[in-house]
Amino acid sequence: TGVEKNFHINRGLFKRNNKVLKAVDGVEFNIEKGETFGLVGESGCGKSTLGKLIVKLLNPSSGNIYFNGRDITKISKKEHLQYTRDIQMIFQDPFSSFNPRQKVIDILMEPLDIHFKSLSIDKKRKVVEELLERVGLTANQANRYPHQFSGGQRQRIGIARALSLNPKLIVCDEPVSALDVSIQSQIINLLKDIQKDLGISYLFIAHNLGVVKHISDRIGVMYLGNIVETASKEDLFENPLHPYTKALISSVPKEHPDEKKERIVLRGEIPSPSEPPVGCKFHTRCPLAQEICRKEVPVLEMKIENHRVACHLI
Ligand code: SF4
Ligand code: MG
Repeated sequence: TGVEKNFHINRGLFKRNNKVLKAVDGVEFNIEKGETFGLVGESGCGKSTLGKLIVKLLNPSSGNIYFNGRDITKISKKEHLQYTRDIQMIFQDPFSSFNPRQKVIDILMEPLDIHFKSLSIDKKRKVVEELLERVGLTANQANRYPHQFSGGQRQRIGIARALSLNPKLIVCDEPVSALDVSIQSQIINLLKDIQKDLGISYLFIAHNLGVVKHISDRIGVMYLGNIVETASKEDLFENPLHPYTKALISSVPKEHPDEKKERIVLRGEIPSPSEPPVGCKFHTRCPLAQEICRKEVPVLEMKIENHRVACHLI
């Protein structure tokens, strides 16, 4: 079944002055080789935090992050170097992650300089040219600066940089949210092509379920720092079980005009992540909430084959 990337985040807490600001907790998922796991939820639910934890751009104040059984908050320098090579990230706004005074060639050479010190400059140039072509740009664009490119082209540069170290997994955090719709599908198709050729896995984070549906093999739904449901894309859309997932899916525009669909509108705002409701964190907005929901935390459990849900009533 190939290499399985098994993530498990256990009480990843972010504290300041002993106050918990944010938590990513009880989050577990597998991403198979060559597979895309989509992570969806409203803004502020902890998706980006989760992505940054996985690539080690953030360290929790406390808690554990397991990758294939190893706690990556406690690995040696050498393991850290290998890990940060294997797992790369692309961002919603690649521009802000580039140094505006660096040419594209320097942006793309930087990771090679750090990780492959012994490569000759000619070999590195060759790698950069190949990377640019791989993402649909040309070698003669290497001497330009980021501001000389369009938003879509800049995302291509971000993808090229993420590819430069031959990663096994790329965390894609809202990579198309800032782009025009026509450009969105170009970038998604590029990511799919790259995955087919190189067998890379993606963790694809987005608030837009339509976009996640387009690219994912399996999907996880996140609410206030917890994953509340995971299933294959087909199962999730055909048979959503968690009340929050049902509401999210009901808000996706219909694909056909005669499709039967009733919009479920959730009451209230998403509560503050620093003071989440006790029991099921969704109970303040859940149309089905019962007494038990205000007291006991539901655990993410397998309810149907390969379909897991955290809800007392299911
Ligand atoms: Fe709703 Fe209760 Fe299920 Fe939470 S556990 S989703 S509040 S029914
Ligand atoms: Mg975000």
